[in-house]
Amino acid sequence: MDLDGRIAIVTGASRGIGRAIALEIGQAGARVVVNYRSRTEQAEEVAAQIPGARAVQADVSTTEGATALVAAAEEWGPVDILVNNAGVVADGLSLTMPDAQWEQVVRTNADSCFRMCRAVLRAMTKRRSGAIVNLSSVSGIRANRGQVNYAASKAAIIAMSRVMATEVAKRRVRINVIAPGFIETDMTSDLSDLAREEARRRIPMRRFGTPEDVAPLVRFLVGPRASYITGQVFVIDGGMSC
Ligand code: NAP
Repeated sequence: MDLDGRIAIVTGASRGIGRAIALEIGQAGARVVVNYRSRTEQAEEVAAQIPGARAVQADVSTTEGATALVAAAEEWGPVDILVNNAGVVADGLSLTMPDAQWEQVVRTNADSCFRMCRAVLRAMTKRRSGAIVNLSSVSGIRANRGQVNYAASKAAIIAMSRVMATEVAKRRVRINVIAPGFIETDMTSDLSDLAREEARRRIPMRRFGTPEDVAPLVRFLVGPRASYITGQVFVIDGGMSC
């Protein structure tokens, strides 16, 4: 039980990658706050599988939501682990993308990551302990046509994580990034058969990843065996970006 008793927040944990992360770190002994935006039943189902876990509704794209989420976790005590996983896509070409489409994605993915980190970092640095993992994407590293808003938000997550990691490193707080490729979740389920086949051909392993391909690395990165790893970006994409 390498995370025994640690207090953890996983944003966007009602389904997909966040769900798998919550279950994985819960299995390692963490007390998990399973955050979600709208799917109460699914979040409750995840929390029910983890001893001592709790589902908490909060829209992390707002300052109020992020603050309320951290306050809910702190009812147990100071937060040891934060996984910023909540994210959305709303693809469209740069030339015609309306402001609202740009802002929704950047606010939900990047602004939320900054606000959540800021909300826990003061206490973590004071206690000289804490680990954060932020979910980026290969789209934040390599160009993906039609994803200008998503790519910008995911590149921002990498940049802000590196800066914050260097700012808090001497206080023994670590911040790392995971950048997945194609993972089978609701987020990728809308792709046409043709687009899926094309995507699959670009992956040397010839398959999409699963949430369970991502979760064990999060568990490792927030645990004691990763104590000298910070400010790094770990790509999980079946070799696609080699
Ligand atoms: P998903 O299946 O669409 O799930 C998204 C999760 O985020 C849900 O739990 C959703 O809550 C939550 N959420 C969305 N907006 C929120 C908000 N404002 N406040 C709180 N929670 C919010 O997504 P996924 O595929 O698991 O992706 C998880 C993360 O990995 C995202 O950051 C995504 O960008 C990244 N990623 C995914 C892939 C992929 O191929 N799937 C690849 C690279 C990176 P509700 O259920 O309540 O709506």
